[in-house]
Amino acid sequence: MGRIRVLPDQVANKIAAGEVVERPASVVKELLENSLDAGATSLRVEVESGGRRLIRIVDDGCGMLRDDALLAFERHATSKLRDVKDLLSISTLGFRGEALPSIASVSRLVLETRSAEETTGTRIEIAGGKMLRCEEAALGGGTAITVRDLFFNVPARKKFLRTEQTELAHIASLVTHYSLAHPDKTFQLTSGPTELLHVTPVATLQERVYQVFGSQVLEDLVEIGVREKELFMPAPSVPPSEAIAEYRREPDEPPTRLFRLMGFFSRPQVQKGNRNSIYVFVNGRLIRDRLLLHALSSAYHNLMPSSAYPFALLFLECDAEEVDVNVHPSKTEVRFRHGSFVHDFVRDSLRERLMESRPAPSFASGTASARPMASPAQAAAKLPYSEFSQMIENEPPAGASVLEPAAPSLPEFSLRPAAGPSPRLDFSAPPIPVTPGPPPSGKLSRRLDAHGEFPAGSIPPPETSLTALSDLRPLGQVHESFIIAAGRDGLWIIDQHVAHERILFEQIMKQRAAGRVETQRLLMPLILQLTAEQQIDYARIADELNASGFETEPFGNRTIAVKAAPAAVGAADLEKMIYEILEIAETELRGASLDDLRRGICASLACRAAIKINMRLDAAKMEWLLRALAETDCPMSCPHGRPIAMHYSTREILKAFHRI
Ligand code: ADP
Ligand code: MG
Repeated sequence: MGRIRVLPDQVANKIAAGEVVERPASVVKELLENSLDAGATSLRVEVESGGRRLIRIVDDGCGMLRDDALLAFERHATSKLRDVKDLLSISTLGFRGEALPSIASVSRLVLETRSAEETTGTRIEIAGGKMLRCEEAALGGGTAITVRDLFFNVPARKKFLRTEQTELAHIASLVTHYSLAHPDKTFQLTSGPTELLHVTPVATLQERVYQVFGSQVLEDLVEIGVREKELFMPAPSVPPSEAIAEYRREPDEPPTRLFRLMGFFSRPQVQKGNRNSIYVFVNGRLIRDRLLLHALSSAYHNLMPSSAYPFALLFLECDAEEVDVNVHPSKTEVRFRHGSFVHDFVRDSLRERLMESRPAPSFASGTASARPMASPAQAAAKLPYSEFSQMIENEPPAGASVLEPAAPSLPEFSLRPAAGPSPRLDFSAPPIPVTPGPPPSGKLSRRLDAHGEFPAGSIPPPETSLTALSDLRPLGQVHESFIIAAGRDGLWIIDQHVAHERILFEQIMKQRAAGRVETQRLLMPLILQLTAEQQIDYARIADELNASGFETEPFGNRTIAVKAAPAAVGAADLEKMIYEILEIAETELRGASLDDLRRGICASLACRAAIKINMRLDAAKMEWLLRALAETDCPMSCPHGRPIAMHYSTREILKAFHRI
């Protein structure tokens, strides 16, 4: 009895319609998803000419029965859905029953497949949607699909393809992503004679990240661990109330839903110029979702400038009923049933984890992120950066994201000798060739020479947490702006202005929360002229402004009077400060919360009041600053998201001097 059925019209009509085959990468995506749905543990992808000439995917999945193999090329033929009800809880990657017929209609396709239930396999040949041959064939188990000459019969579509390298980069990115989502499976990608990716099964995601990106990148990431949260859905008999109405369950539903988050994300110092290094999987499906992207960036709020993006590899798991994947034909968008719950769960889990790790940036990472960063796809395609960025500029990736090199965002420090250690954080780190040795043991090989030996065992364990700040010994200042300090492990450089800004910010936030911001009355009220727009913003934020230690009131048409201000603000700064807050209000209020506005006000108060750069500090002042910084909740970056401290570890120093 075959497994595949043609969906009845009333189900087919409910499926998000549209073309799925845009480019070679979309073919690869559909075929890979089919192989994964078929339970394959080994997936081999071969391409030629960026997938234009050839795409071949070989899997060891369940294969197809002869009758099914024929049916699979009918529109809306699928083994994964039966009726409309199934659409509400899709647990497979595919469900539309459209990929195979769509691909077969625009290429020369050969399907070779054998199910364990049959003794011989089936070979089907189709060109431009026409069946040319269907025959029995002696085949091993599993399925191989060969797609040649994509769009040979649709020249208009062919014209829109980019260069071979670009198409290849998209494919490489896609296969890399799927390999990250399935560490227990083998993935192999070859382009002609070149092997671009080959990863064998490993037990953990961490090991797969290591296989794909290398150990250095792993060091710059924070592992989320497994975060779980239950959503309680009140019984339907409870009278509806506004606040919980969204969570109300149907009579036959269980009372709770479990959400689970896993994966990796980068320390705040890793800053990318766009979102292309963010991979989000929901129930194993690679998606682009604004809600989750927003949750991610809110987790970094005040830790990273809002124009920068992190690297993230997030896996969200939940009941299939909680997420609607039938939103977009390429299945890359989803809709959550309890969107705000999911949003807050992701944001809070990441935020808590970020705060726990209190990560310190290193010089190496600082300099590395100031360079353009590459992607696995790019490395895989062996492209020079400039060529790659030019090629994928402004081009939305098909089916999945392609990492794009980021704009420099961190200040560049030139402490590193010219022939220093190779920069970290290169996300292009080696997918090719991917036959890594055992993970680094932490033991360092020493080289004996006439310059003396660095005693074995005296290299301190790497200091990656800013907790170390409390033991630092300040040595002096550079440019009367940066404090240089020695620690248990290496050298630190601290931006005195942003360090103080962070200390003050947290103090002011605490005072604000307790409702006792120190204020001082002005001798003469300060009268400020507002534009019409500013006046509207002022009306919105007046209460918040007054709660933050200001005393302001309207004073005639488009004018306000400021009678008191937080003690931290000097009289000379007051006017600028109020206009700055109005500016924050203008941007923050567009969609952001009151909480963000409050943080914005506290951040600008802190900035105004903090020690400036180009200011001499004596030893006692520097020590005080470092201690106070160590006691803050978040010593890694200033409220605006700039880094505070850079770390040059003993290991990096030794490496730079060629001692290890
Ligand atoms: P969908 O994945 O949405 O069901 P497709 O057109 O992609 O639709 O595939 C049609 C059917 O062909 C699938 O439902 C599945 O039963 C079968 N199929 C496709 N690829 C494979 C494969 N690699 N191994 C086993 N069965 C497959
Ligand atoms: Mg499919």
